[in-house]
Amino acid sequence: MKPDRIPCINPRCGRTAPAAKYPAGWEIVCHKCWKMAPPSLVKRHRQLSKRRRKIDRLIRMPGLGFRTNAIDRLQHANWCAIRVCFNPVDRPEGLDAFIEEVFS
Ligand SMILES: [Zn+2]
Repeated sequence: MKPDRIPCINPRCGRTAPAAKYPAGWEIVCHKCWKMAPPSLVKRHRQLSKRRRKIDRLIRMPGLGFRTNAIDRLQHANWCAIRVCFNPVDRPEGLDAFIEEVFS
């Protein structure tokens, strides 16, 4: 992968985005993978982004001292859940056969 590109968080995808378009350390999900993400997480992402924009708007108003720690934490937790969807924990070799054998 070229250094001026950042990869989609889905390791099986292979799509990239221009790094210059995003802050350093940013992660992306391409449009095709985004459509495969669980609808509940996508809905939550939109909800939190909407709240973030509203809070950011209020922060810019003079005299209001809003803190964004809570929304940061919620957005991070939701993003981690989305990342786990695309990077499930690797199962040890033979585990699926063992589970099949035990529960059949
Ligand atoms: Zn992708």
